[in-house]
Amino acid sequence: MTAGHAAAAGARGAGGASRTGSGEARPLLNRRLAEFGTTIFAEMSALATRTGAINLGQGFPDTDGPEEVREAAVRALRDGRGNQYPPGPGVPELRAAVAAHQLRFHGLTYDPDTEVLVTAGATEAIAASLLGLVEPGDEVIALEPYYDSYAASIAMAGGTRVPVTLRPTTEGPGTGRTYRLDLDELRDAVTDRTRLILLNTPHNPTGTVLRRDELAAIAELCVERDLLAVTDEVYEHLVYEGEHLPLAGFPGMRERTVTISSSGKTFSFTGWKVGWVTAAPPLVTAVRSAKQYLTFVSAGPFQYAVAEALALPDAYYTGLRDDLRAKRDLLAHGLGQAGFGVFSAPGTYFITTDIRPLGATDGTAFCLALPERCGVVAVPTQVFYDHAAEGAPYVRFAFCKRREVLEEAVKRLRDAPPA
Ligand SMILES: *Cc1c(COP(=O)(O)O)cnc(C)c1O
Repeated sequence: MTAGHAAAAGARGAGGASRTGSGEARPLLNRRLAEFGTTIFAEMSALATRTGAINLGQGFPDTDGPEEVREAAVRALRDGRGNQYPPGPGVPELRAAVAAHQLRFHGLTYDPDTEVLVTAGATEAIAASLLGLVEPGDEVIALEPYYDSYAASIAMAGGTRVPVTLRPTTEGPGTGRTYRLDLDELRDAVTDRTRLILLNTPHNPTGTVLRRDELAAIAELCVERDLLAVTDEVYEHLVYEGEHLPLAGFPGMRERTVTISSSGKTFSFTGWKVGWVTAAPPLVTAVRSAKQYLTFVSAGPFQYAVAEALALPDAYYTGLRDDLRAKRDLLAHGLGQAGFGVFSAPGTYFITTDIRPLGATDGTAFCLALPERCGVVAVPTQVFYDHAAEGAPYVRFAFCKRREVLEEAVKRLRDAPPA
């Protein structure tokens, strides 16, 4: 077995081990990452491929974004723009476009030269923020269920994650249920060691969008306890009811918030991995300190294309939202007909369902059996929790797929034999 194979085996949780000088077996994978196996998305997508099932697990669109944006990338490549290392903070065109976007949609002013940093997707922005701002032993509060890279990034930074649980509003089956943040619980989670709150709204996996009063309370708490905030806003344009409000726009937050977004979800090019950070200069400097030794730079020609994409007229953004809202409605209706309890999904790519009306209680077992039962893949919400029991009966479905794919999935789910 080569070192590479052994490392891969260890990363899969297969117990790869090496011999230390003293002859004792020691796990290859270090302690910081030992608890993280393969991401659930890779696992469920592999299951979808193996069984030929419709993949409503991983949140990626099955059609590409605007043709003119794709053409802009081709043009940049052909014209030799970005084929060599672009500037560390990102190409000036994209930094200017990000600043213009923050002003146009959110009324937030950022200096493209000192307050914008281009990253390899939101994923690198999150990792670099934590690596740059968190001291080993610092506590990081994240709303659970949380996006799966958060726990690993906090761990790589040596931080301690402190989950605060979003809870369903009412128990039992029925549509219109949603998730709410318990502000008292959030306040109680803050200690003298809390460094920052890692916030995600619109929220994956629940589809919840934090309300103005909730964000105002979070902002007050950050100011009162002198906390930083890192906000993951990759679904900022995918809000179907209500509105997206950046935390950075609340009183006292401009100077203490690292705002993160990405082109993946907004322009349906998740493979390009062009993301960005907007924040006050000292925060951008801290994030860049880590980022420069992760990827240094990435996606040169795509940065130029995303700069053009950000300047698309409002009709693009509303068109994307209207299209996804209709798809959400189609899937929500179908899931209801198939007997699931369906949560409202005011934002993101995702609908959360309660499987108890179907007579099932364990989302993981349910999702593992679903491809065989009816040829559909979904993700158990349980995997996004530290307190796994909280998420046991919930399953997440993605609706960022073509209409005919959603219609076929709904038909299969309706016709499925009992769980
Ligand atoms: C998809 C997603 C990301 C990753 O964004 P990239 O730009 O692809 O790295 C980050 N956070 C959340 C909540 C996501 O759903």
